[in-house]
Amino acid sequence: MAEIKLERIKKTYDNGPTVVHDFNLEIHDGEFIVLVGPSGCGKSTTLRMIAGLEDITGGDFYIDEKRMNDVEPKNRDIAMVFQNYALYPHMSVYDNMAFSLKLRKTPKPEIKERVEKAAEILGLTDFLDRKPKALSGGQRQRVALGRAIVREANVFLMDEPLSNLDAKLRVQMRAEITKLHKRLETTTIYVTHDQTEALTMASRIVVMNQGDIMQVGSPKEVYDFP
Ligand code: ADP
Ligand code: ADP
Repeated sequence: MAEIKLERIKKTYDNGPTVVHDFNLEIHDGEFIVLVGPSGCGKSTTLRMIAGLEDITGGDFYIDEKRMNDVEPKNRDIAMVFQNYALYPHMSVYDNMAFSLKLRKTPKPEIKERVEKAAEILGLTDFLDRKPKALSGGQRQRVALGRAIVREANVFLMDEPLSNLDAKLRVQMRAEITKLHKRLETTTIYVTHDQTEALTMASRIVVMNQGDIMQVGSPKEVYDFP
């Protein structure tokens, strides 16, 4: 369960411009929010503030009524999937997925159980001993998803997770992420510049431009198709 509330959220980089301008957004439990907008409009910055990878320079951010602005990233109930997968090249698939749990001192048997369950969901059971370089692009992307799933976090943040895949694989992974969301019902914010992804995956679409929210609505409302 996780409701996210952003109140007059703002980001000004040190000695730089303000790239997120005091916007408000409420995300309900289990929603799949797709965040769209032109390159440089502040989508990644917004995700990174929610994850705690960037300081919030104004406004307040809550998960389930708890103010999160100053909570350390590792203490946020959030898992993030990046565009470039950010897998550790020298670690096996198993260890890539186990890593964040080891950091959090999760007991070994529980780590094993969670990694094996995630691997089963993602079709990675036969690949646990491989290194990332011995995997296809789609398999690597699955490992990146697996690292998020094992956390059993209540919030998923995904920053253009499919943009490095070829068109065919993108379609396939899009369906898999939708299926995963149906199964786990984790509150998700998904950044993309791909209109088809927004249309097919979103429960609501948030349109950003120059650090502001322009529009929030269902795919039908935002794209106004018949
Ligand atoms: P998007 O994800 O929508 O492409 P970003 O959030 O990455 O946009 O970037 C928003 C703006 O913030 C851009 O103008 C970008 O150049 C600027 N920006 C991003 N990261 C930094 C940083 N570390 N320091 C200064 N400016 C940054
Ligand atoms: P350690 O070596 O740290 O004592 P374990 O005895 O739990 O850890 O496991 C040894 C190593 O085997 C782990 O670090 C992990 O990389 C790998 N491993 C454990 N279970 C599996 C599994 N089901 N599939 C693939 N590799 C596994």
